[in-house]
Amino acid sequence: MLTQNEKKALADIVGPEWVCDEPVMMDTYAYYMNPEILNKDGSLWLPRPAAVVMPARTAEVSAVLRYCNGVDLMVKPLSTGFHCVAAASRDRVIVMDLKRMDKIIEIDVKNQIAVVEPYVKAIHLQTLLWKEGLNLHVISCGGNHSVLASATSAWGTGLDGPSMSYSGRNLLGVEWVLPTGDVLTLGSAGQGTGAGWFSADGPGPSLRGILRGYMGAFGGLGVFTKAAIKLYPWDGPREIKTEGCSPHYLLAEELPKNLGLFALSFRSAKALADAGYKLGEAEITYADFRLPAFMTALGSTDENLELKRVWETGIFQKVAQYHLIAAVIGCSQREYDWKLKALKEILKETGGVRLPLNEMPSPRFLEKLGPILKFIDDPLFLLRKFPFLQDLLHKLPASKTARQRPQSELFWVLLRHATNTQGNFRPSQAMFTSLGGFDTWDLGLKQAEVISKKKRKYIEQGLLLDDGGDLGCGGTFEHAHMGYLEGIGLYSSQDPRSVMAAGKVIDEAVDACVEEALGIPIAGFGKEMNARLGPHCGDYHRWLAKIKKALDPNLASDPFFYAEPEVEESS
Ligand SMILES: Cc1cc2nc3c(=O)[nH]c(=O)nc-3n(C[C@H](O)[C@H](O)[C@H](O)COP(=O)(O)OP(=O)(O)OC[C@H]3O[C@@H](n4cnc5c(N)ncnc54)[C@H](O)[C@@H]3O)c2cc1C
Repeated sequence: MLTQNEKKALADIVGPEWVCDEPVMMDTYAYYMNPEILNKDGSLWLPRPAAVVMPARTAEVSAVLRYCNGVDLMVKPLSTGFHCVAAASRDRVIVMDLKRMDKIIEIDVKNQIAVVEPYVKAIHLQTLLWKEGLNLHVISCGGNHSVLASATSAWGTGLDGPSMSYSGRNLLGVEWVLPTGDVLTLGSAGQGTGAGWFSADGPGPSLRGILRGYMGAFGGLGVFTKAAIKLYPWDGPREIKTEGCSPHYLLAEELPKNLGLFALSFRSAKALADAGYKLGEAEITYADFRLPAFMTALGSTDENLELKRVWETGIFQKVAQYHLIAAVIGCSQREYDWKLKALKEILKETGGVRLPLNEMPSPRFLEKLGPILKFIDDPLFLLRKFPFLQDLLHKLPASKTARQRPQSELFWVLLRHATNTQGNFRPSQAMFTSLGGFDTWDLGLKQAEVISKKKRKYIEQGLLLDDGGDLGCGGTFEHAHMGYLEGIGLYSSQDPRSVMAAGKVIDEAVDACVEEALGIPIAGFGKEMNARLGPHCGDYHRWLAKIKKALDPNLASDPFFYAEPEVEESS
């Protein structure tokens, strides 16, 4: 809670209606998805903030931070608040909810740059950009995330990685309210040059490593109030019409002929890895995602009983174990035709199969097929051996309605980022993720394997859901120059033993990062992880502490998810 004086001081800055410390409202900022694995005691609540303020302008953000420098309050910025890293870490923290800063300041079509405020959601910006023949990188938690938050402050991986990389790579400049309240505009737009937002680096050393680095500072280094984002050409449809209703919105019109959506199946992790590299080197894939077998089954069913039935047929385990969904787009019909030809050639070389998407097989059909395929080790053998059969299958007549669903599902996920993240929680109520070091595609696939083994013993004890073990999700980036897979697991938030098992896998995964050189995991943030991983990685925890101390001398920015200004020496 705030004192009356504190509340008045904040109200004087943002206006009384934009400061709130009502307990009922504070609780809504303390409740996030699956906090039981973040909280050491397994509790469902994160700390209640002292208050929530909602500034409308950079000057107000700056004034709030300046005020916090003189009292013992800290600021924690929140853009859309999708993830619990947007929560306050203790009770003397003010959550700065940036919903009122929701403007697209500029879309520079010619130079392919958008300048946005914190509450501009990716899906909204994409809708406008497509009309201009442009696109932006969107992360795979779904299109509702804040473009600015991902680009400046938190992770940034998404399915369009092959063509548009990850969020941090697309940052062309920021307006940054430092923890002291000073405002810094970084890059070509800064210092009143009038040069525009075309580069985040100006003359002299770059500050990008400090403000963003690999994962971002998670709100621990002040507040970003504007971000310039690099845009890319979009040769897909300028507008899409939909029909149907939840949960199956369908594309009302056929996709243009210069755009193809594919479900590719490989026989082994090695074949999948090789294909990823080859597709990348030839710049075939616009977007891709390794969709594990269990996720494929999950996505093709509407409820858990159906899922159980189709999973038990064993078909997904055989057909979709090493499964990559991909979008291919040509800037002309000629380019698309060439890309399709190259894709087929790469599949021949790697023994991959383009799964037919003429129709979504029904659970009843799969149940009938299951017993027959039980005795066949590789049900796709003939298609692998005689690739022309794949063409024949794809050409089989199917009604528009039959084709509509698989095409639509792939389009939503790969290109429109209408990801059903809640859907992943359906089988067990809760999901955790681990590893996810951003490195090579090979290392990504290795991480999936490592985490699959670690999950196995808990699956056997019935503590984690039996998803086959390997829920390695991710894809290639920058035409397979980089790759990324995180190891997902499904647990029950109702069962403390299951929660504990999830925590153990996450913990063992951090050890594996060090022991098996798997890179910094996506959970590698905050004081505890910095201390654990820093000594193995250039002592980065010491550098983070120094940066924090230099930029935030009065601790006005909540350090919890970034770095404390002092490093505790371990004995
Ligand atoms: C189920 C699930 C799936 C996810 N999948 C992905 C994924 O595939 N890829 C990925 O990159 N992330 C993923 N995330 C993580 C996370 O949701 C996103 O990175 C996040 O959504 C970013 O946008 P946001 O607006 O929601 O950020 P918020 O949740 O509002 O904030 C994220 C962090 O950035 C800080 N921050 C926000 N705005 C500012 C600002 N203006 N200035 C300074 N700091 C700020 C916050 O303090 C917080 O630490 C996932 C999360 C969940 C729960």
